[in-house]
Amino acid sequence: MATRILLVEDEQTLVEVLRYNLEREGFEVQSCGDGREALRLVQINPPDLIVLDLMLPNLDGLEVCRLLRADPSTARIPIVMLTARSEESDQLIGLAVGADDYVTKPFSVKVLIQRIRALLRRAGGEDATQVLAAHGIRLDRRTHRVTVNDQPVHLTLTEFRFLEAFLRQPGRVFRRDELLEAAGTDADLVLERTADVHIKSLRRKLGPAGEFIETVRGIGYRLREPDASSESSNLATVASSRRREK
Ligand code: CA
Repeated sequence: MATRILLVEDEQTLVEVLRYNLEREGFEVQSCGDGREALRLVQINPPDLIVLDLMLPNLDGLEVCRLLRADPSTARIPIVMLTARSEESDQLIGLAVGADDYVTKPFSVKVLIQRIRALLRRAGGEDATQVLAAHGIRLDRRTHRVTVNDQPVHLTLTEFRFLEAFLRQPGRVFRRDELLEAAGTDADLVLERTADVHIKSLRRKLGPAGEFIETVRGIGYRLREPDASSESSNLATVASSRRREK
């Protein structure tokens, strides 16, 4: 599955140039020109990396960055900030609010792509986002394999997408229409109750681990957030399996 980049930039010509070049490099690109819209898109479907312009309508890049970092579910998404100003102070502020890197306009597309690739490597992004794990559940996006305590589980594509959404943002409550959207289903065309059917089946297939998918009455569903100790053991699991794959 392609690495997904969210491009947040209100200068349409620049968006077109960057989109063309990033897609040619094999990235999947989503774009928007508004800070508030960017936050909404990240919540619906977190990208692997964000290219974030500093000067934006409604909510500027610094504020977007600060809010993303303050939310545990989005805190680890790598961010490259674009700044029109070359003053060192702006760049330092960008890094202070949590941007991982910055590129000063005007920049060459080649340089930006190099920085993106470096950042994905540094963040372990290209690998780490492929394997998601919590509560003994492990999902590999490359192979579409899911295991619970190392036992394979066979999911439908919709169940797989639901689980992927949960594992990407443990603790976050998903509405039924958000889950259906994450699964690529047009939520307008199916009954939201359809989501309940998929959840029921997913829970059953996950066995005892299915209990970690909690019903939030009147809203939707969430994966219980792993506590600190179990989270570190899950990370260790991912790390060791990644070593094995090398
Ligand atoms: Ca701008």
